Amino acid sequence: MPGSELFGAEERKEVQDVLETGVLFRYNHDAQRKGHWKTREFEAALAKFNGVQYAHACSSGSTAVAIAMAACGLGAGDEVIVPAFTYIATIEGALLGGALPVFAEIDDTLCLSVEGIRKAITPKTKAVVLVHMCGSMANIEEIVALCKEKNLVLLEDTAQALGASYKGRAAGTFGKVGCFSFDFFKIITCGEGGGVITNDKALYHLIDQFSDHGHDHVGDNRGMEAHPIIGFNYRIGEMNSAVGLAQIRKIDYILQQQRKHKKAMKAALAKFPQVKFRQIPDENGDSATFMDFFLPDEATTRKVVAALKAEGVANLTGIQYWYDNNYHYIRNWEHLKALKSPAKMPIHLLEKPQDYNNLDLPITENLMSRLISLVVKVAWTDEQLKELTTKIEKALTSALG
Ligand SMILES: *Cc1c(COP(=O)(O)O)cnc(C)c1O
Repeated sequence: MPGSELFGAEERKEVQDVLETGVLFRYNHDAQRKGHWKTREFEAALAKFNGVQYAHACSSGSTAVAIAMAACGLGAGDEVIVPAFTYIATIEGALLGGALPVFAEIDDTLCLSVEGIRKAITPKTKAVVLVHMCGSMANIEEIVALCKEKNLVLLEDTAQALGASYKGRAAGTFGKVGCFSFDFFKIITCGEGGGVITNDKALYHLIDQFSDHGHDHVGDNRGMEAHPIIGFNYRIGEMNSAVGLAQIRKIDYILQQQRKHKKAMKAALAKFPQVKFRQIPDENGDSATFMDFFLPDEATTRKVVAALKAEGVANLTGIQYWYDNNYHYIRNWEHLKALKSPAKMPIHLLEKPQDYNNLDLPITENLMSRLISLVVKVAWTDEQLKELTTKIEKALTSALG
């Protein structure tokens, strides 16, 4: 998965450009910057790669979600449908923006299901925050149709899905807005960084303004720029964008390597009839960051996780049993269920849409208890890949008999 495996001379060169001028700020200072506009170039590359009109880089994937929510007009008291399997930032973004998260069921795509969304809709529902988990996409066509039918905003959290697509169209371009993360663990990294993409010009201007205290970014006197809306500081800096720029130029290579490596891992796992693979609506559009598979039940799944560890697979790659993870699945989110926060949020003053302590999500619960994700790395040699697949097969043979 991580572009951080490929940090090298290209990243250092882009960072060096910025260090030479000392203009670490993304706006203004035209004369001093000697033509270096790393954030602008990074945004242009992000827009081009995804085939969209507008891309705006920001400080993180979490702030990308917050910016997108605000720009789409989602705020105090608005119900937004979210999955219980995501990175917790999706939910935090909704809560801190004043919205009320409503948890709905996923399916074996590991993303929200159309039936799950349909069941969670109430008269207060304003949006669906669709998270394309673990590098691949939801059943997007049906979800787009449902959002149109019900007049709901579709916001795509594509933090984990740069490079994923459906019938040639990039994840993050099906809804009103798409949000990326470039933290240290994502497909490409800026160290810390995020991005928001859209084809909607008016929305793009709101995104651009909201992420920088409402600045309209017209003219060359920052202190005299107009401020059409209230915003906040969600800016990315030039150093981070410089790394992102070098990284996005490597995305085709990253995807090609991941797809090759995942294919070998899948072939090893496919020898075991107990293994079922995650549904991928368009296999050609899999960014292949994770090798996701299900076992028949929780006990068997735990046995397989233990066997993979015993075989030494953890020394070669990440083994994720998300069911036990403290940040990706709601089961261990005690703080969230209790809405513990240092300061009052709108949800504390409003009627809660669901009892978060007693959510009824049997399909999600069942899928999560049986899911294992193995990280697909970029820089493995053929020998390392062979060693890995041999160990996977040994582990499954010992666990499944
Ligand atoms: C990583 C991630 C985020 C947050 O990104 P950061 O850059 O770490 O703030 C949001 N949503 C999902 C689904 C993620 O995986």
